[in-house]
Amino acid sequence: MHHHFLDNYPNSANLQSNENIALEVIKTIEIKHQDIFKNHNILFFFDRDRFRNGEFGVFIIKDSSENYAQLIDNLERDNISNIIKIRTYQFVILISQYIFDCEDKEEKILTIAHECQHYVQHVVHPSSSEKARKIIRLYKTKGMLDNKIYRNLPSEKDAFMEAKKTAYGLCGRLKVDVFLDKKIRAIQNMIETASPSINKKRILELENDISYWSHLDSLEIENSYNFDEEIDELWKIYEKELNFESR
Ligand SMILES: [Zn+2]
Repeated sequence: MHHHFLDNYPNSANLQSNENIALEVIKTIEIKHQDIFKNHNILFFFDRDRFRNGEFGVFIIKDSSENYAQLIDNLERDNISNIIKIRTYQFVILISQYIFDCEDKEEKILTIAHECQHYVQHVVHPSSSEKARKIIRLYKTKGMLDNKIYRNLPSEKDAFMEAKKTAYGLCGRLKVDVFLDKKIRAIQNMIETASPSINKKRILELENDISYWSHLDSLEIENSYNFDEEIDELWKIYEKELNFESR
């Protein structure tokens, strides 16, 4: 077994149940990609909420990304004794405390499976995966990366669709659809009933959450999605700039 679980809270009564859900997700993905998780050391790290792209998880490759440097930085600042251990993993799937504590199994599965799919992309489609990271970096440099653009990137759409398939497989289609519906309505309700004093930033966050869940809700998993082709289309648009960037 090459993947491990670690949580970063004093009160970790939930760790076992979260671990079990992650294991169910891994098993489901391994039906499609045999033994894929046995190839690398992966740490599922349940940490407090540090990153937020409209998502509650991050897939992090050791040493190769800004996110990794930021993770180590944060942990050093917190004086985390596990830091040496964390450094022995090639990949970290960071799951935020919000997911660790949330009540809906569907929400946990959708988040964990989404991040796991970024690992699958990295292993099964290494070149497209690298292109996706370069495109994200370019968008960031250009100041173009808002949440909407982000969640429509091929790497994201692929991760959302695969996560939805995994959740359908584990919970049943009806339960997942009911969950998505409930989620969207609950946030809508929060916006409608928010007191006038609530700050604008919070409202924007809630509106972004609605778009996030509606996006996931609208993805038809029956439509086949070709990650490599979609990335290449996008790559063609920015090819000149991207080749310049990677020099
Ligand atoms: Zn993602």
